[in-house]
Amino acid sequence: MGFLGPEHYVVENQGLEFDPRSNYKAEHEKYATNVPGLFAAGDCRRGQSLVVWGIHEGRGAAREIDLYLMGSTELT
Ligand SMILES: Cc1cc2nc3c(=O)[nH]c(=O)nc-3n(C[C@H](O)[C@H](O)[C@H](O)COP(=O)(O)OP(=O)(O)OC[C@H]3O[C@@H](n4cnc5c(N)ncnc54)[C@H](O)[C@@H]3O)c2cc1C
Repeated sequence: MGFLGPEHYVVENQGLEFDPRSNYKAEHEKYATNVPGLFAAGDCRRGQSLVVWGIHEGRGAAREIDLYLMGSTELT
């Protein structure tokens, strides 16, 4: 069957938007979803991919979350 997309029960009742492939909808390099304070990165956002992308997006999401919470960030 291959990759069918991320499970949705984690975000049930959150009002989260999904992309046409049923991934969690969030802009690349921003990772913010339509729900304030809810971020998505890695396979659940971009679809089935590679470990290097998971690492890259995880780091980027940490930066964006830090910025969201603290108003500034030193993470790159
Ligand atoms: C069979 C297979 C082979 C692969 N081979 C390669 C390869 O050779 N090279 C390569 O680069 N990539 C490979 N990939 C892809 C790579 O594994 C993924 O792109 C990468 O792991 C994505 O990282 P992620 O952090 O986004 O998601 P994941 O690694 O899937 O991490 C998500 C985490 O969330 C946890 N989780 C889920 N629901 C909950 C919950 N409700 N509460 C708490 N935790 C939860 C899960 O347990 C999991 O640990 C392969 C994937 C598969 C399935």
